[in-house]
Amino acid sequence: MRQKYPFTAEHLKQVEHYLEKWKAKLDLTSWRTSVKQGRHSAIGLVERIDYEGKLFRLVLGRDAGETITDHFLEQLVVHELLHIAIYPVKVMVLAEKELMGEHIHSAEHGLINILEVLLCPPKESNGPNA
Ligand SMILES: [Zn+2]
Repeated sequence: MRQKYPFTAEHLKQVEHYLEKWKAKLDLTSWRTSVKQGRHSAIGLVERIDYEGKLFRLVLGRDAGETITDHFLEQLVVHELLHIAIYPVKVMVLAEKELMGEHIHSAEHGLINILEVLLCPPKESNGPNA
């Protein structure tokens, strides 16, 4: 049977810490956020997003799918915050191009995956010239 990597209360505290760190870096400090443990299969997702009230909840899945390190948690936070940060661009593109939501979502994810690695690179590439 596949090994399980459940999130713990300690992980949730680390996620809260990284949320504050990255909200500051991504100019999202006006957003109020909360974290909770969920039961879904996705590693993490944002729910109850309120763009007017600047509020969302980050919900961790029941299993991380890999060993949970600080870096893993930080990257997860960066990924989910980028969904929030990119939202205004998505609205603009939708209005201008009238593209289908599906296409926008995969384009958004492509961009987020690039930004995630750039902002929060794997530990191996953290050298002085990385
Ligand atoms: Zn995503």
